[in-house]
Amino acid sequence: MLGAVNAREKIMQIARRLEKHFGRLRWRSHGDPLDLLILTILSQNTNDQNRDRAYESLKKQFPTYESLVRAPTERVAEAIKVGGLHQQKAKRIQEVLKRIKAERGDYDLSYLKDLKTDEAVQELLRFDGVGKKTAGVVLTFSLNKPYFPVDTHISRITQRLGLVKPKEDAHDVMNALVPDRLKYQLHLHLIWHGRQTCKARKPLCGQCVIADLCPYPNQINKIKKIK
Ligand code: SF4
Repeated sequence: MLGAVNAREKIMQIARRLEKHFGRLRWRSHGDPLDLLILTILSQNTNDQNRDRAYESLKKQFPTYESLVRAPTERVAEAIKVGGLHQQKAKRIQEVLKRIKAERGDYDLSYLKDLKTDEAVQELLRFDGVGKKTAGVVLTFSLNKPYFPVDTHISRITQRLGLVKPKEDAHDVMNALVPDRLKYQLHLHLIWHGRQTCKARKPLCGQCVIADLCPYPNQINKIKKIK
């Protein structure tokens, strides 16, 4: 990884360029934290379209959390089949709901808002199947907590940019480096950048607004010359 000061300065430059390119974002709520937790569990290993279809189907068949918890797991799995890994996800969703109800007396995660961000992350990590990305999405998008979730796009881009080494914990590195006020916006901007330009298979480095900050094109050119 770059030295911390260099890396921070580089992140500030990247954030400025991407803001100029995509525009400034204002935080908006993406819904209730528990709904978002379930949606994010459904998003694991599938695309946005199938995640949304699975979620709609789940809500339609089980309009309340209570009905979802009381249903046989097989029926829940059937309802979310379109999203893949349905047996595992059905079990996890029911377990999460049961545990929240048992611990809090209600199906409600809004108490996380009053915790420090680190504590709120730890609360969510206690649930089976909830990792830092899922926890971060819930906290950032539902409760406006300053956390920087790292998805597959961001993982790829931050490695290409030399900000995170392959074996490092990208969440720990990036959360230490990205200032709180930039976490929400930079997260979204990097995802859009990954979808449009820094694609997994063939990044469009010639069209990239942060190309001069990125060692990746030079590394690839060197490899090509050696071959
Ligand atoms: S220069 Fe290429 S590899 Fe680097 S961020 Fe831009 S698109 Fe991605």
